[in-house]
Amino acid sequence: MPATMHQIIRKLTTVLLVCIAPFSLINFIQGEVYIGVLISIVSANLLYINIRIRRNKTYNSNIAFAVVMPIAYFILYQLVIDRGIIGILWCFPTIVMVNFIMQQRQAMVANILLIIILTPVILSQFDPALAIRVLACLITVGGLASLFVNIINDQQKKLHQLAITDPLTGLLNRLTLQDSIKLTIDQHSRTLTPMTLVSIDIDHFKLINDKHGHDIGDQVLIQIATLLKKRCRSIDKLYRLGGEEFLFILFSTDLTNAQLFSHSIQQELAEFNFEYGLAPTLSIGLAEIDKEKTWDECLKKADENLYRAKNSGRNTIIS
Ligand code: GH3
Ligand code: MG
Ligand code: MG
Repeated sequence: MPATMHQIIRKLTTVLLVCIAPFSLINFIQGEVYIGVLISIVSANLLYINIRIRRNKTYNSNIAFAVVMPIAYFILYQLVIDRGIIGILWCFPTIVMVNFIMQQRQAMVANILLIIILTPVILSQFDPALAIRVLACLITVGGLASLFVNIINDQQKKLHQLAITDPLTGLLNRLTLQDSIKLTIDQHSRTLTPMTLVSIDIDHFKLINDKHGHDIGDQVLIQIATLLKKRCRSIDKLYRLGGEEFLFILFSTDLTNAQLFSHSIQQELAEFNFEYGLAPTLSIGLAEIDKEKTWDECLKKADENLYRAKNSGRNTIIS
């Protein structure tokens, strides 16, 4: 679930708690035990979700679906039978909550289930004209809530994708680099699978810009990025770290294989037909992931080797 959705759910559960929890006490005092119990259960679940999101940035929506929903729906059913329109009123915040706090499929099932459970009661409790309007309102609110949640989730995914992508090359940008290297070190510590960082810098790239202009420079960057992307397996990660610098995180790859990999990339680049007779080369620094090192120490090692590759005359690989 996207982080912004978590923020929305955290704020929503806070607002709902403040708005509806006092009614639990009021209803108990007034002897409306059903409503009191319903609101207490829902409030307890809202509190759980709120606390879990604050502390762990995640929560188990199965509790709401498998435990809270059946109890709440049973009580709502009784409430509509006993108190008519008052019971109906409590269906509306319930529907909104269901759509926001449950997973999409769970919410869909919950929405349909509520309508199926309530339809016979509503039809028997109210005259047909009112019953149809009540049902239409419940379905509309459920549909709208579901629509809003979908739109928010879709937008969040698109925004997240945009935020982590370099617009020129379509590669990952720096934003997720730290987390990825940390994750790689974690995986390496657990499985002892070798992983290697491959830091790449285009040699004398400034000359291409100076001689042929920025647009041609951009084209060369895109062509090299495309070539690198083709060599990136689904388990690997490839970043454009900025300017003319790239970084591979190669999974299940030791230093020897990373050297072979780097050589083959240099070879492919040498065989590529660039416009204007351009023949860019790459300097490459390697560093195998080491569980004793932090993510920035691993990255620094790859960068130091890249620096050494530059000082060794460029178009070189240093590990
Ligand atoms: P070295 O071999 O030492 O790496 O030399 P270099 O010229 O490649 O490195 P330098 O850091 O001196 O220059 C990098 C150049 O990359 C300068 C900058 O204008 C250019 N550059 C950075 N980002 C972009 C971009 O998005 N498009 C284009 N066309 N050029 C860029
Ligand atoms: Mg360069
Ligand atoms: Mg550079």
